[in-house]
Amino acid sequence: MTFLTFRFAPSPNGELHLGHAYSALLNQRMAARVGGRLLLRIEDIDTTRCTPQFEAGIFRDLEWLGLRWEQPVRRQSEHLAEYRAVLDRLITEELVYPAFMSRGEISAFIAEKGGRDWPRDPDGVPLYPPLDRALPARERKRRIADNLPFAWRLDVEAAMARVTADLSWVEFTDETMSATRAIEAQPQAWGDVIVARRDIPTSYHLAVVLDDALQDVSHVVRGKDLYAATGLQRLLQELLGLPQPRYFHHRLILGSDGRKLSKSFKDTGLAALRQAGMSPQDIGRLVGL
Ligand code: GLU
Repeated sequence: MTFLTFRFAPSPNGELHLGHAYSALLNQRMAARVGGRLLLRIEDIDTTRCTPQFEAGIFRDLEWLGLRWEQPVRRQSEHLAEYRAVLDRLITEELVYPAFMSRGEISAFIAEKGGRDWPRDPDGVPLYPPLDRALPARERKRRIADNLPFAWRLDVEAAMARVTADLSWVEFTDETMSATRAIEAQPQAWGDVIVARRDIPTSYHLAVVLDDALQDVSHVVRGKDLYAATGLQRLLQELLGLPQPRYFHHRLILGSDGRKLSKSFKDTGLAALRQAGMSPQDIGRLVGL
């Protein structure tokens, strides 16, 4: 018998807030409804911002909330060699290229060329200029030999040309999972995204698709803020021959100012709410569960 598998995948770069509580509890509820498994994954590849203290806080807050998950917990920072192997495949297949421009160079180039009209990705970040993609192989080699820092970026045009299957994903229309609809993936909206950063052989998108596959995740339940990213992740799944999970992108819990919660809003942090005397049931009510 195969079990349906859900996961909650926080990054230990701040304290959990009400938005995380909703996502974690919803994953638990949906998994319970179908007798599925619930995994916890620690997404800590960003070593400059993730800390063991935040990670310990995640375990403490989730246990307090009443969440139960399988052991062992996968910690992304312990699997860099696996990401490296997948990156090497993309390099060999010429689906990624070394991108040398610094943030300052990118902004200066865009200010000069397009200014406000320069296209942006769904998160509002300007698309990467096409200069490095056009570099001759000899020049790339020279720069790498000179130890110039670079990230690996996806050549999204080349990648799209490689994919023959229909690029869409299956989205549940609500948490009861009784109906689905097909959503057309639009990876080009992200331009040539980073698949491996200067300091680590992966990025969020690459690690997440590989981990979901390695952990047999069948159902990805996460916030609507990652809806558009799913199109890009579907492209990576196709390029790497990985199975596609089904998705449910849930509503976001907004702050009293109507904006998305961030890790710096102390008043919605779970630890602060617990210290203020709230119970796990109060948290459930606050997020509408
Ligand atoms: N680690 C991501 C975050 O904390 C979530 C990734 C995902 O659910 O796909 O925002």
